[in-house]
Amino acid sequence: MFKLTHCGICGGELEDVVVAKVSRFREQVGTVVFEEVPVQQCRECKEQYLSAEVLEGMERVLRKGKPAPHTALVEVPAYPPNAYLIPA
Ligand SMILES: [Zn+2]
Repeated sequence: MFKLTHCGICGGELEDVVVAKVSRFREQVGTVVFEEVPVQQCRECKEQYLSAEVLEGMERVLRKGKPAPHTALVEVPAYPPNAYLIPA
């Protein structure tokens, strides 16, 4: 899969980190909070980059509107992401 190695903003080196919470707001759904989201983060400016797989996983959950507990963002056993909904 395509993977960035350097930051598009400052050119700093990216490292793999897991962010505790990432929230996305969607009209008529509310705010969906994703837990333990794998991202790449710039060591210099802390800009975060989400992979296409993770963004697709989030989009699937947002389209459904009601994430079940322990919704899998990506089918990678190493990550047990969780998603929950705060209604609008
Ligand atoms: Zn940067």
